[in-house]
Amino acid sequence: MKTVSTYVGFVLCLLLLIGAGCNDFPLPEDEFLKSARSSENAELKKNENKKPAELSTDEIDGLLFMREEEKLAHDVYYQFYQWYAHNIFLNICESEQKHTDAILRLLDFYDLDDPAAGKAIGVFQNTALQDLYNSLVSDGKEGLLSALEVGVLIEETDINDINSLMTETEVKNILQVYSHLLNGSGNHLSSFERVLSKVESKQK
Ligand code: MN
Ligand code: MN
Repeated sequence: MKTVSTYVGFVLCLLLLIGAGCNDFPLPEDEFLKSARSSENAELKKNENKKPAELSTDEIDGLLFMREEEKLAHDVYYQFYQWYAHNIFLNICESEQKHTDAILRLLDFYDLDDPAAGKAIGVFQNTALQDLYNSLVSDGKEGLLSALEVGVLIEETDINDINSLMTETEVKNILQVYSHLLNGSGNHLSSFERVLSKVESKQK
């Protein structure tokens, strides 16, 4: 009898020790999930606070336009990469995809309909951008040099448009995205100019 109660006591002690051990050393996965969840919540709260009651018509029009202008850059470079297989078009095309996605996140955030939803490469809701796409692609068809010149023109246009949109808003998350896009365009412009002058000097 004594032996049995000693044994039960020993098992109880062991269980208590294991239990205490569990509390002292939580599984690393639990900690990871907990911190991921709390930073997610913090991010949501931050966004809620940042969300203004309403955007102005200019701000909305600017976002809708930029969503498609970034898509235009992407679609033109995509087409040029098919024709010329030059890496510059592939690399910058990928970057334009990130830019148009960044605007899409703003459209979602402000509950605005996406003008590019379900649109194939080279198809735009904005008729001015549709015409611009058609004419740029037809210019770039003439050869690699023309295509690179189109690249320069797109980036210069982009820089002008973003600069003027930035004067029309004071909304922080919109300005953040625009300034990120502006940075990208500056880099793209110098890349196109660099490759253009290389190709030009080879052709002389
Ligand atoms: Mn861009
Ligand atoms: Mn660009």
